Amino acid sequence: MTTAFITHPVFLKHEMGMHHPECPARLQAVYDAFAASGLMPQMIQVEAPLATQAELAAAHAPDYVEAIFAASPAHDYAYLDPDTAMNPDSLEAARRASGAVIKGVDLVMEGGDVTNAFCAVRPCGHHATRNRAMGFCIFNHVAVGAMHALNAHALERVAILDFDVHHGNGTEDIFHDDERVMLCSSFQHPYYPGMGANSGNRHIIPTPLPARSCSAEFRRAIDATWWPALECFQPELIIISAGFDAHADDPLAYLELHEDDYVWITERIRKVADAFAQGRIVSALEGGYDLAALGRSAVAHVAALL
Ligand SMILES: [Zn+2]
Repeated sequence: MTTAFITHPVFLKHEMGMHHPECPARLQAVYDAFAASGLMPQMIQVEAPLATQAELAAAHAPDYVEAIFAASPAHDYAYLDPDTAMNPDSLEAARRASGAVIKGVDLVMEGGDVTNAFCAVRPCGHHATRNRAMGFCIFNHVAVGAMHALNAHALERVAILDFDVHHGNGTEDIFHDDERVMLCSSFQHPYYPGMGANSGNRHIIPTPLPARSCSAEFRRAIDATWWPALECFQPELIIISAGFDAHADDPLAYLELHEDDYVWITERIRKVADAFAQGRIVSALEGGYDLAALGRSAVAHVAALL
């Protein structure tokens, strides 16, 4: 049994202008860290396919998907919001990033050699709502993957676990009224995108953390909120929004996690997956803006998946 490493060269071509923190160098740092880690020979490498318009429209409004396809520029940039732009390669990258999660779901559902998967993708996805691009995100890859699991594999319960430092507001928006998908999201609060602390919905589990929260506070809060909810929910598949910007070295936010916290949470997620989901986990890269910390954290996370 092994882990699939799903990626595509086009993820290095999507870029949103000079000095944008969500830059191709992030993914290159992840690739470099994995190359140095010695883990690659233990994994199956898989090319991310293109998500179809219909697969994207299972999570997004169909006219939003059409508008994004139409907005793809032939040159320069098309701005979708002040933080989020498309260059000529962005549409393919965003489609393949969603396609990576779909492929990961197919692989872990097939019950072959692959128990879990890591999708090394750009752009990130968890801020993209049903009908809006924002926060560096165009399509919501974990939401597209969860809808694929429900539709194509007839699952009834999928959990999305989001430990990016920013709240997965797009994922919450898409599944706000869909109890088949539980979202557990930990995030610095108050902080961008300025919502999420009170969902009022029992299948949306927010774990807001004040700035400067460190390992002990993070673990205590996750223990109190995520695991009891997941034990009740009994997910048949777990999808992870794996952002590493809650790391102490990250320049965009102010939580103080370290690599061993990502090992801890990944090992705990595996226990839930083993108990209820036959071990099935698909993890997708979200944020993480200190290149060295991002590379080390992604490797620590995947080593714990392996
Ligand atoms: Zn983030």
